[in-house]
Amino acid sequence: MDHHSPFLQESIDLSKAAVDRGNEPFGAVLVKDGAVILRAENSVFTGRDMTNHAEMNLVKLAAQHYDAAFLADCTLYSSTEPCAMCAGGDLLVGYWQGGVRLLRKQAR
Ligand SMILES: [Zn+2]
Repeated sequence: MDHHSPFLQESIDLSKAAVDRGNEPFGAVLVKDGAVILRAENSVFTGRDMTNHAEMNLVKLAAQHYDAAFLADCTLYSSTEPCAMCAGGDLLVGYWQGGVRLLRKQAR
């Protein structure tokens, strides 16, 4: 097991929790210095907002809580490959926040 696996697994666990709450199966975590600092899951149905994908929810939280210098060393782990919206959101946060690294795993 490499050092990324626990964070990828946590994003997958969040995707399962999202399903338990009635949403789509997607989760994401933000990691800094080897620790998860933010977690998000899909909330499209419970939040009645079709943009509430896990990554977008995480990006919104990150922008609310941290500045660019802090986020520059963070890594975003996601349970799956991004949709076009999330890829754009990730690129935006990466650009504006100084380059958040992205790691994803297809949850199956
Ligand atoms: Zn998405």
